[in-house]
Amino acid sequence: MRDSRHDILFEPLRLGPVTAPNRFYQVPHCTGMGWRRPRSLAAMRGVKAEGGWGVVNTEYCSIHPTSDNDYYAYCALWDDSDIRAHRLMTDAVHAHGALAGVELWAGGGMIVNHATRLPPMGLRSLPQTDDGEVQPGQTRPMDLTDIADLRRWHRDAALRAVEAGFDIVYVYATHGYLLSQFLDARTNTRTDAYGGPLENRVRLVRELIEDTREALSGRAAVACRFSVGLEDAESYDAFGLLADLPDLWDLTVPDYDIEMSNSRFVRQGALTESVARAKALTDRPVVAVGRFTDPDMMAQVIRSGAQDMIGAARPSIADPFLPLKIREGRSADIRECIGCNICYAHDSQGVPIRCTQNPTMGDEWRLGWHPERLAAAPSAARVLVVGGGPAGLEAARVLGARGHEVMLAEARRVMGGRVTRESALPGLSEWARVRDWRLGQIAKMDNVTLYPESRIGPDDLPAMSVDHLIVATGAHWADDTVGRNNPYGLHEMDRDMIVSADDVLAGHMVEAEHIAIYDDDHYYHGSVLALALRRAGHDVMLVTPAGRVCEWGTFTQEQYASTAALIAAGVRIVTNRVMTQAAGGAARLACPFGGADITLACDAVLPLTRRIPDRTLYDAVRATDHGLQSISLIGDAEAPGLIAAAVYSGHRAGMELGETVDLAARYGRRETSV
Ligand code: ADP
Ligand code: SF4
Repeated sequence: MRDSRHDILFEPLRLGPVTAPNRFYQVPHCTGMGWRRPRSLAAMRGVKAEGGWGVVNTEYCSIHPTSDNDYYAYCALWDDSDIRAHRLMTDAVHAHGALAGVELWAGGGMIVNHATRLPPMGLRSLPQTDDGEVQPGQTRPMDLTDIADLRRWHRDAALRAVEAGFDIVYVYATHGYLLSQFLDARTNTRTDAYGGPLENRVRLVRELIEDTREALSGRAAVACRFSVGLEDAESYDAFGLLADLPDLWDLTVPDYDIEMSNSRFVRQGALTESVARAKALTDRPVVAVGRFTDPDMMAQVIRSGAQDMIGAARPSIADPFLPLKIREGRSADIRECIGCNICYAHDSQGVPIRCTQNPTMGDEWRLGWHPERLAAAPSAARVLVVGGGPAGLEAARVLGARGHEVMLAEARRVMGGRVTRESALPGLSEWARVRDWRLGQIAKMDNVTLYPESRIGPDDLPAMSVDHLIVATGAHWADDTVGRNNPYGLHEMDRDMIVSADDVLAGHMVEAEHIAIYDDDHYYHGSVLALALRRAGHDVMLVTPAGRVCEWGTFTQEQYASTAALIAAGVRIVTNRVMTQAAGGAARLACPFGGADITLACDAVLPLTRRIPDRTLYDAVRATDHGLQSISLIGDAEAPGLIAAAVYSGHRAGMELGETVDLAARYGRRETSV
C-alpha cells in the first residue's frame, strides 16, 4: 500500500488550460534520437507515460531550419512531416493519460547549422561553438527584421505543435541558446529595444510567451524554461518581470555543471534553494529537476512549497516506472539513477540514449524491450551464471524474471564485481546502486539462488547438471602498459615499479611514496584513483597522452570538475606525454609532437591502459565435451567496457537465452523513410 506521506505527489495540478494528473514531470531531455528516429522516440516516451509520469516532454525541438543541430540529434517542427512524426509520440503519451509537452527551440550562437548551411543567427557576430565544441565561423547578428521573423517562426511552430497534439508548448530561455543570450547583460550589448536595461533584455522572451499564448488560444499551456541562481541576483529580477506570464515555469540554475552534474560531485536536490526563491515570486506552478530518486524527499520538496512538481530527466531514464512504483507502495523497487551521465554522453555523441541502470532505455522500439515486462521463457531451463558483477547480476535477474531456474556463483564474498570495488573510491558511492537494485530484485525470486564465495572451475560443471552456462567473469587491469598510445607496451619496464590498479581497487596498501598514474584510459578511473592515493598520503602524478585528463569526461559533464578536484587535492597533472619507460626510479615521457623527452622521478607507475578479459573458465569449458545447450560469454569478460555495456550485455543474455539470433536483422533494425 502507498505510504500516505507520498499522497501529495499524486494530486492533479492545473497548468493553465490543461491539468497534469500528478506531480511527476519528465522535463525535456535529449535522447540522441531526434527527428531521425520518431518511432524510437514515441516508444520510449510512451513507456514513461505508462510508468506514471504525468507529463512527458520532447527533447529540444527546432522551430525553423535556421536552427539545426545535426551534429547531434534534435526534434523539429518545421513542416507537416514533423507534425506526423510528433503525433506518434503524443498518441503514445496520451494513451496512458499523461500530457505531452514540446520544447520549442532556437539555437543562437550555440549551433552551427551543419545540415541546412544557413548562417546561424546570434546577438552579435561571435565565434561559434556547437554545444561547447569549437567550430570555425561566426554567427550573423540579428536585426529587427530577424527578430520579427523569429517571432513568426516560433508562432508557426506553436501552431504545428497544437496540430501534433501537444498539451504544453515551451518558450526555451536557458542553457546558453538564443533567448538566454538575450537575457544575459554580458552577451547582450545591443543598443535597440532588445538590449540594455533588463526590461529590454527580457522583451523577446516576454513577446514569445505572449505570441505563443495567443497562437495556442487555450488549446495548450505555455511553459517557460528559465534559469535562476542565488549567485546571480539579476536572474530573479528578470524572473520577476515575467513571473505571471506563462502557465508553468520549468526552472533550472545557470550552472550546467550543477543541473547536469555527475554524482561524483553533486547529490540529489541541488537546485531546490535557488528554485524556491523564484517560486516565492510567482503564482504560477513551478517544476524543477534535482535528480530526485527518493520519494520522501520528493514529497517534502512539494510540501515545503519550494516547487509544485518533481521534474526529472535522469531518474525517469533510469526508471520509467518510478511514479507507478511509489503509487503502488513499491518504492524499494525504484531503480535509482547513479548520476554517471552515460545517458547524456551518448546523446552528445549523436547516438541513441542508453542508461547504466536501465538497459532497455533506447531499445523500446528497436528490440521491443520493456523496462518492467519481460516475456516468460517458452520453457524453463537450469542456468548457471558465473560472476556476480553488473553483467552476471543483470543476466540472473532477467533469467529469473523469465522463469528459469538460475544459480549465480561469485568467487568473492560480496557480490557486485567492479561496482563493489569502484564504489569505495572517492565520489563513486552511487555506483553501488547497480548492485543493490539487482540484488533486491533477485531476493524476491525463489528461482534464483546466489552462491557467494564460490569460484567455479570447469570440473565443477558436470555435478551441477545445468542446461546453459553464462560466463560473466569480468576483466582485470593489465600491468603491461599496452594500450591506445603504447601498442607494444613500454620500451623498458622495471616490473618492481609497476603497481596494479586492481591492488588499489582491492584496498591493498601501496608502499611507494611517489606514484605516477599513466592514464591512457581517459575516463574517470585515472582521476578517482589519483584522488584515492592522494587521500592515502601518496605524492601522485597523473600522466596522460591526451591534452586533458578525463578527456571522455567531457561527454559525461565531469571533465571540468574532475580536473578541478585533482588540482585542489594537489595531484600533479602532466598532459600530452606518452610514457615510454619506467625504470630506475623514474618514468620517461615522450612528447607526441616530436619535442624533447622529460624524466619524471617516481617510485611506482600505475598503468591504466587496458583491461584483460577473464575468460579462462569460458575457454576451458568450450575445450571440453561439455554437453551444455549453450555457453555464452558476456560483459567485461567478452569485451571490457562501460558498466552500462556490461549491464546491457547481461540483459541481452537473459532475453536471448537459447535463441539463435540473427544479429543483422535484430540489431541492424533502423528507421528508414524509403
Ligand atoms: P562485469 O562488469 O562484466 O559484470 P566484473 O568484473 O564486474 O564484470 O564482475 C565479474 C565477477 O566475476 C567478479 O566479481 C569476479 O569475482 C567473478 N568471477 C571471476 N571468475 C570467477 C569464477 N571462476 N567463479 C566465480 N566468480 C568469478
Ligand atoms: Fe542516471 Fe547514469 Fe542512467 Fe543517466 S545513464 S539516467 S545518469 S544511471
